[in-house]
Amino acid sequence: MTLLLRGGRVVDPGLELDEVCDVLIEDGIITKVGKDVVAAGATVVECAEKIIMPGLVDVHTHLREPGFEYKEDVESGTRAAAHGGFSAVCAMPNTNPICDEGSAVRFLVERAAERGHVRVHPIGALTVGLKGESLAEMGDMIAEGAVAFSDDGKGVQDAGTMRRVMDYAVTFGATVVCHCEDEALVGKGVVNEGVVSTRLGLTGWPSAGEDVAVARDIAIAELTGCRLHLAHISTAGALQAVREAKERGVAVTCEVTPHHLFLDEDALTPEYDTAMKMNPPLRTSADRAALVAGLKDGTVDAIATDHAPHAAHEKALEFELAPFGTTGLETALPLVITNLVAKDTLTWSDVARLMATGPRSALNLPPVTLAEGSVADITIIDPECRVEITPAFFESKSGNSAFLGTTLLGKATEVLVGGRFALRNGKVV
Ligand SMILES: [Zn+2]
Repeated sequence: MTLLLRGGRVVDPGLELDEVCDVLIEDGIITKVGKDVVAAGATVVECAEKIIMPGLVDVHTHLREPGFEYKEDVESGTRAAAHGGFSAVCAMPNTNPICDEGSAVRFLVERAAERGHVRVHPIGALTVGLKGESLAEMGDMIAEGAVAFSDDGKGVQDAGTMRRVMDYAVTFGATVVCHCEDEALVGKGVVNEGVVSTRLGLTGWPSAGEDVAVARDIAIAELTGCRLHLAHISTAGALQAVREAKERGVAVTCEVTPHHLFLDEDALTPEYDTAMKMNPPLRTSADRAALVAGLKDGTVDAIATDHAPHAAHEKALEFELAPFGTTGLETALPLVITNLVAKDTLTWSDVARLMATGPRSALNLPPVTLAEGSVADITIIDPECRVEITPAFFESKSGNSAFLGTTLLGKATEVLVGGRFALRNGKVV
C-alpha cells in the first residue's frame, strides 16, 4: 500500500526537523519526506494543521494479562494505546502468573502478535515472583523478547540483592527499571505525608521513602555500571538526585507520569476520591513544579503513563483499601498538549523527545524516526480539537481515570504501526 501524508507539520528532534511537508510511505517504509511529493494511486491522508511525529511509545503500561483480564487485556490495552496516540507500549511484569521467565515473555509476545493493535515490548521481572530475593532468568527472557527488567509495583528492599540484580543485568547490557520505594519508611502510607495527610487523617507516604531508594539505586548503578531507569519519579529530591547523577556521567534515566505533572495533593478532597490514590502518591505543588522544570532541562527522559486499569468495584472501596493507580494511555497526550504545548512550556519537538525518541533510548529500544528508509511507526496529532474525558471516551476496559470530567485540547487522529493504520480518523482500526 502507498500512503501519502500530505501537508502536515513534520517534527522529529533527531533529524532537527520541524517544517510543513509531505511523507510518502510505501510497503510500510518511509520513502520520501519533502515538499510537493507526487504519488499516483496513493491513499492520501490530509494533514493540514496537524502534527506528524515518530510514533509515541509508553515505557510503563500495565496490560493486566494474564490473570487480571477483567481490568484489561492485551487487546483492550493496546486498543487504548492506539486511541491515545501510541504505536508501542512496554508491558510491566506484575501479572498472574508474574512475567519472570522465558515462557511468560513468549506468551505475551504471541498474544500481542494475535490481538495487539500496537507493538508490545515485554518487561520481565528482576526477581522471581517479584519477591526481591532470587534473581529472575534474564537471559531466557531476553531470548524471548524482553526489553528491560523491573519489579514495578514493589521496590527491591535489600540493597545486596539490588547489587546482584544490577551485576547480573550488566552481563546482558540490560536496563534495570526501578520502582523506588523504601518500605521501612513508607509503611502503609497511602497519600503524600504532610499537611494534607494530617488533615484527611490518612497514613502518609513520605517523599523520603522515594528519595532514599533513588539515591541508593543510583549509587548501586554507579558501582556496577548498570543502566538504570527510574520509574514514575514524583519528588523534587529524586529529580535533583537524577540531575546530579547525570552530571557525574552515571547511566541513569527517568520518567514522570502525567498525573504527577498535572495533579498534586490538593486534588485529594474530603470526599476521599480513590481516583486520586496513586503509588507514588500525588505530591506537593513544589514537587509538581520541579517535575515540569525537569521536562525542559533534559533531566526527565520520558513521560510515561503508568497506565493502571482497575475495575470500578475495586476503586469503590474505602481510601485505605482501594488499589493504587489511574488509567493513562488515552489522556496522556491530550494532557500534555493542554497543559504544556498550548501554554508554550513545551515545543512539539520536546513532545516528540519526551514521548517518542527519549523513552526508546532510555530502554534501549530500536529508535523510531521519520528518516527516509525507516519503518513507518508514526503518530499524527490534531492539536486543536476538544476532547471530553467521559466514560464513553475510553477504549480501555477500565474507567478509573483521575481526569474524568475534564475537557482537554488535542488528540491523536492517526497512528501507523509499520505503515498499517492502528488509528484512523480518531477511531481504532
Ligand atoms: Zn506501574
